[in-house]
Amino acid sequence: VGDSKDFDEEVRSVCPFCGVGCQVSLKVKDNKVKYVDGVNGPANEGRLCVKGRFGFDYIHHPHRLTKPLIRREDAPAKGLNVDPGDLASHFREATWDEALDAAANGLKGRGREVAGFGSAKCTNEEAYLFQKFIRQGFGHNNVDHCTRLCHASSVAALMENVGSGAVTATFNEIENADVAIVIGANPVENHPVAATFFKQFTKRGGKLIVMDPRGVGLKRHASHRLQFRPGTDVSMLNAIMHVIVEEELYDRQYIEAFTENWDAEKAHLANFPPEKMAEVCGIEAEVLRDVARTFARAKAAMIFWGMGISQHIHGTDNSRCLISLALMTGHIGRPGTGLHPLRGQNNVQGASDAGLIPMFLPDYQSVEDDGVRSAFHEVWRDGEISGQKGLTVVEIMDAVHDGQIKAMYILGENPAMSDPDVEHARDALAKLDHLVVQDIFLTETANYADVILPASAFYEKTGTVTNTNRQVQMGRPAVTPPGEAREDWEITVALAKRCGLNWHYESPRDVFDEMKLNMNSLANITWERLEAENVVMYPALSETDPGQPVVFGDGFPRAEGRAKFTPASIVAPDDVPDADYPMILTTGRQLEHWHTGSMTRRSLVLDAVEPEANCSLHPATLRKLGVEPGGMVRLTTKRGAITVMARADRAIAPDMVFLPFAYVEAAANILTNPALDPYGKIPEFKFSAVRVEKAGDA
Ligand code: SF4
Repeated sequence: VGDSKDFDEEVRSVCPFCGVGCQVSLKVKDNKVKYVDGVNGPANEGRLCVKGRFGFDYIHHPHRLTKPLIRREDAPAKGLNVDPGDLASHFREATWDEALDAAANGLKGRGREVAGFGSAKCTNEEAYLFQKFIRQGFGHNNVDHCTRLCHASSVAALMENVGSGAVTATFNEIENADVAIVIGANPVENHPVAATFFKQFTKRGGKLIVMDPRGVGLKRHASHRLQFRPGTDVSMLNAIMHVIVEEELYDRQYIEAFTENWDAEKAHLANFPPEKMAEVCGIEAEVLRDVARTFARAKAAMIFWGMGISQHIHGTDNSRCLISLALMTGHIGRPGTGLHPLRGQNNVQGASDAGLIPMFLPDYQSVEDDGVRSAFHEVWRDGEISGQKGLTVVEIMDAVHDGQIKAMYILGENPAMSDPDVEHARDALAKLDHLVVQDIFLTETANYADVILPASAFYEKTGTVTNTNRQVQMGRPAVTPPGEAREDWEITVALAKRCGLNWHYESPRDVFDEMKLNMNSLANITWERLEAENVVMYPALSETDPGQPVVFGDGFPRAEGRAKFTPASIVAPDDVPDADYPMILTTGRQLEHWHTGSMTRRSLVLDAVEPEANCSLHPATLRKLGVEPGGMVRLTTKRGAITVMARADRAIAPDMVFLPFAYVEAAANILTNPALDPYGKIPEFKFSAVRVEKAGDA
């Protein structure tokens, strides 16, 4: 991998992994990507992490699906039992016509019995088509994707209080800041190229305040390290804001000019003196006071957050606190200031913008708004768009168990690995009487399919993606798909036509042009510009504007242009430790592996570096358990149990265990809690009570 400088062609595209959106140059020979270089995109300035540089060869893996498949009538019962080498006993190969007919016949005419999961791994055009297919084809909004598992609560809080779900400033703006908070995020592993900009910021004297229950990699570069107790974000952040009020460090002029509900926020914060909250969050009062003063007195300060903030039943409250902190100090809307939830997937921002969510049509326009629906109806013509919000990811699985949903179309998502309490999700998939899966591999979810449609990897397709910075970038194909695999947009169009929709798209560009009709965010962004310039950021103020890195300097897209303070109270995690489950389980990603592992575990270098399922425990905890580093432990929660290799990691608190979720043989989500944040409907992946034992003693 990556050892040959011998290539015929260079193709400029975008890394398919994380939301940083690094631009790449793919070196191609004989229809194979030989190696990858970083190029000078606005987000990465030529840099790549190990995934972007070495994690491309999964696209040539022998496990790629190359022909449509239909489940055999005499196949064994559905379950996680399909060996890729033994596909033939479960599925038979079919022509595209046969497979599309079979897929459509199980879906059409079934209205509310159908639900769809689209993908943040697909392009904007594909996400748009997918949500349109479910909405127009079946008359409801039961369509969602993995944003529900990642930043749904952040988006809920941003929409509520700022009026827009995207970042207010790019992460690169940190170069204009003098203070930055990174909370509930581990960019060194999850947004590695962004982390390099954060490190540079500290090298030139910027103060980095790192807050996380794990001692994440950036702490070595931090001026302040707050390793607070898991699940106590609201108490800690309210205590910091209490100091800002008490010491009158807030920006009175900004608050008066651009916000509402300040008096309620101020009164609420009186209940959170740091001396009282210190015991709750485990951070000394004087440290909380110092952080408050440092942040409030900064000339320009930014706040970055990740899933440590969002994946809680109080995830929306956590984000509300961060928004309030930025508003009260006026650190928003100027260079070097702003709110930046670090988006996870390469196109989770774009897929959400394109309407792949059950409560919003494209550009976060409410499905409940008659005017919005009628504007889309003008463009879509056929079919009624439902004015009722649809079900979210976890709710859809519950609805399968309840018998309300009986058929699903799943494109590029892997709920048999990614959903919380995953056995519940797997049982739901087995219960469906018709499941169509469109993917590049026989994922764990495809194991349950009735029809499998072989799709294209990102480096095999044309289309746009939008990164965490709101930068819309052009993805270009470097190689052709293997066998009979097709681009996802083509498959969705073919399926929609067979389900009776009058669709006439000839290319992704046709789709993009339709999206522009009802998406103001795409104003001044054209296909031609993207082809010529590779990237344009929204909002773009003119046909020559590359896009605005900082927004809301002159007010917010809310009533009277004012952002809102929404006070947040302490809500305990749902599944608190007790005598039977005395420790805290938290889950996340590792640098080398991506989400459910379907791509990176089939990538030679990445899998060689991290070949084995593992968890991390503090050395003192391992000693107490009598387990050597590298030994096996049994993790048990109220949902299930797994056995996994244990690593020693001093960054983990002694009462915590960190578990990556990429490994099917020790699937983290067997253990996780499906309890939901009431606003964002995001599960509490970051906190479950767990029992840890030496394997064999259990
Ligand atoms: Fe790809 Fe993200 Fe790494 Fe950049 S930082 S190379 S986008 S995985």
